[in-house]
Parts: sequence; structure tokens; C-alpha cells
Amino acid sequence: MGYFRGFAVTFRKMFEKRVTTPYPKRKRDKPARFHGRHVLNRYEDGMEKCIGCELCAGVCPAQCIYVRGADNPEDAPVSPGERYGFVYEINYLRCIHCDLCVEACPTEAITETNLFEFSFTTRADAVYTRDELLVDAETGQPNHLPWEDWRPGDDEHTSGWMRATAPSGDATYQGRVAWSGELGYGVRAAEPTEPAEPSVDGGGS
Ligand code: SF4
Ligand code: SF4
Repeated sequence: MGYFRGFAVTFRKMFEKRVTTPYPKRKRDKPARFHGRHVLNRYEDGMEKCIGCELCAGVCPAQCIYVRGADNPEDAPVSPGERYGFVYEINYLRCIHCDLCVEACPTEAITETNLFEFSFTTRADAVYTRDELLVDAETGQPNHLPWEDWRPGDDEHTSGWMRATAPSGDATYQGRVAWSGELGYGVRAAEPTEPAEPSVDGGGS
């Protein structure tokens, strides 16, 4: 008798709406703040935002960032500051995509894209270098490496929206943007999901 009850459950489930998708042919939409593969950003004039301060490396709980700063060459500065990120590496065998590096960065140099499908086969490929992480100097778009599966939209919101504590997510900052412009995108609009009115205590979310 128990068998028949089991078959009845199976039969009933055949007509219910599926909760799975035929991945990888079809993929679910990702949240705007999804934490994926990092990028190193540039200002609108093409200068690199990273100043090689190593705060991201210091805060990283997985100790997977390696940074070495160097003085900017006077005749051809790489960043607007005194120094720039001469060596920059992220080891994706360790990264847990917590985004603390993004929170710690004082210049909004490092952010995360929505890309999570990057299946490398060697340790060398797993350690992303500065050149691989830097966005293109002309378009501001992330590099598309051979083992990465970029889909439309994966690189759309790689700046302010990724930052959990961005003031644009607070009702007090309604309609204001506290994020510098970047190559390829300019100054992004305020986050559309921000609340219409400040909360009762006036402190926002
Ligand atoms: S996302 Fe977290 S674990 Fe990954 S590099 Fe940044 S701080 Fe480290
Ligand atoms: S990415 Fe940001 S926190 Fe890390 S070294 Fe560069 S400027 Fe400093």
C-alpha cells in the first residue's frame, strides 16, 4: 500500500511547476549585488583607481590578495595618487566572495562582477593577475578570459551597487550618488531599490 502512496506523490509532482532550470542552457536572473569575479576599475580618463594601499589584502579573511604598491612614474603616472598597484593578485582557490575587500577599498578600485562561471584547470589560471583583473583601457569592460563564461548582464553593475554599505542604499541619501565615475559607465545612477522615505527613526536602513 505504501508503494501506491509513493507513486501517487510522484504522479502529482509531474503536474506541478518546476523549481529547477535546464542549466546551463537557461540561467536564473542573479541579484544586482551578486558577488562574482572581481575587476580593478579605472576612472573615466583611463587612470587606474588602485593606489596600492594594501587595505584589501589586510582585510581579506581568506588571505588571497597579494598587493605591492610602487611610486607612480612622474612622466607617465598610472593612478592619480602617489602610488599605484604595481603587483595585484587574487587567488580564486581561496576567495569566498565575502566582498570585504570591496568595502575596505578607499578608492572604489576593486569591485565584483556578476560572473561566477569560471572553471580554471591549473593553479596558475586560478591566480588572477593585475592585467587580468584590470578593465580594458578603452572600453572599461572586464577582460573575458578563455575559461570564463560571460553572459549578458554579468558586467553591468560592477561598482556602487556591489557595496553593501554604499550610501545610495540608505534613505538619508535618497537620489544621491556617492560613487566616482568610471571608464565605460560614467557616474552611475542611484540604486533604484532605495526606499522612498527615510525610516521612522531617521536613520535609514
Ligand atoms: S571577496 Fe573576500 S575572500 Fe575574496 S578577495 Fe575579497 S576579501 Fe578576500
Ligand atoms: S584595490 Fe583598493 S584597497 Fe586594494 S590596494 Fe588597491 S586601492 Fe588599496
